[in-house]
Amino acid sequence: MSGECGYSDTSHSRVFELRALEFLAARLPRRAARAGEWGVGTEDLALFHETSGEEERQECAAALAWQRERWAAGFGWLTGPLAHGGAGLPAGYDRLYRQLEDRFEVPDMNPLRIGLGTVGPAIAAYGTPEQVDRFAVGLYRGERVACQLFSEPDAGSDLAGVRTRAVREGADWVITGQKVWTSNATFADLGLALVRTDPDAPKHRGLTMFVVPMDAPGVRVVPLRQLTGGTSFTEVFLTDVRVSDEHRIGAPGEGWRVATGALAGERRAVGDRWHERNARALELLRGLAERTGRWEDPLARQEWARLYSRLRIARFQQERMQQVALGGAERAVDKLLLSTNLRLVGELAAELAGPAFTADTGEWGHYGWNRWLMGALGYRIAGGTEEILKTMLAERVLGLPKEPR
Ligand SMILES: Cc1cc2nc3c(=O)[nH]c(=O)nc-3n(C[C@H](O)[C@H](O)[C@H](O)COP(=O)(O)OP(=O)(O)OC[C@H]3O[C@@H](n4cnc5c(N)ncnc54)[C@H](O)[C@@H]3O)c2cc1C
Repeated sequence: MSGECGYSDTSHSRVFELRALEFLAARLPRRAARAGEWGVGTEDLALFHETSGEEERQECAAALAWQRERWAAGFGWLTGPLAHGGAGLPAGYDRLYRQLEDRFEVPDMNPLRIGLGTVGPAIAAYGTPEQVDRFAVGLYRGERVACQLFSEPDAGSDLAGVRTRAVREGADWVITGQKVWTSNATFADLGLALVRTDPDAPKHRGLTMFVVPMDAPGVRVVPLRQLTGGTSFTEVFLTDVRVSDEHRIGAPGEGWRVATGALAGERRAVGDRWHERNARALELLRGLAERTGRWEDPLARQEWARLYSRLRIARFQQERMQQVALGGAERAVDKLLLSTNLRLVGELAAELAGPAFTADTGEWGHYGWNRWLMGALGYRIAGGTEEILKTMLAERVLGLPKEPR
């Protein structure tokens, strides 16, 4: 019989589980389940963490400190190769560890999410052993933070259209261009940058991936103020940034392959905690309907029941997908279900709260939904927009005819 982490040796996974629980219990308080009781505690309905400046730096320092503890105890890079200090375990152990950690008050690990979930795995998969040691291991040791320099003003969904150029000069490359929507760039130490190295090649073949030190001369990071208040996005201007050829990840012209591998990692990282968060939201929606006199309305109840079913289905779907080793395209289903459900939850809240959704009346559990719905719109875009993921599923999974390009 297969273990909880999809690994045949159940006794091994059980020992792992006990060891992880011992490590966690010795360091962190247990997390109280966040019940959907009306009016209890903070509303906590913002989907995006809205921080800036000093607050963001402090969160990053706390996340790095926890990552160092994980590393010291052998939980810092569970799927990483033994030769590079990882634990060499199958992906199921990563999932199992996350589930165990979710029972405890862990610092917010969001500042490290891109480094550990996207940039690190991409360097480990496509870099040389020296590059893994030099650029990726520090991320897992909790010594460095990475950001992802992919999107540009005219290249988001059409990522292969990036215009940032790198020109070879002897043993170096000189990079010039602009990136945008870069999360975490204000405190990142290194960025994984997709750039064009051959303007004459077909667009997917003229790209190369580089690691760019964020403190290199010519890198300028400008925070972007969001509609919802924070400045967690940035524009990154690269002007004659010189990096040695040792910073190139993969062969020249192979950048697209590295980028798609990295993005598949991003979609695989769709969190388990969302289910708990959505379950709480559903309870709060019920409380809202009761307080606004809508719980007796059969149409409102029908909508609530429809959401309940959708959230259950999303959970079962994710559990099923985690049991099988599939590529990135299939994982797009999880992300699509998540972003659609977040939006539907926010839309029902808007309908139930009425004017208190747009004007803050100070009532608990009303205006806070505004932040939820705004955040849900961001999730529809991040990590590939819904339209792009549907096209990907249609073409690569269902085998439908390709869109004209
Ligand atoms: C929360 C968040 C975090 C992010 N973090 C990062 C980061 O750290 N690093 C980074 O590089 N980027 C990041 N991004 C940027 C993100 O990857 C892009 O926003 C995304 O790829 C979409 O690109 P775009 O914004 O240019 O929109 P566009 O590509 O201009 O799309 C606009 C609209 O047109 C639709 N569309 C476009 N092409 C097609 C098509 N062929 N068929 C059908 N519809 C189409 C899209 O679905 C969308 O609705 C982040 C975005 C968000 C929201």
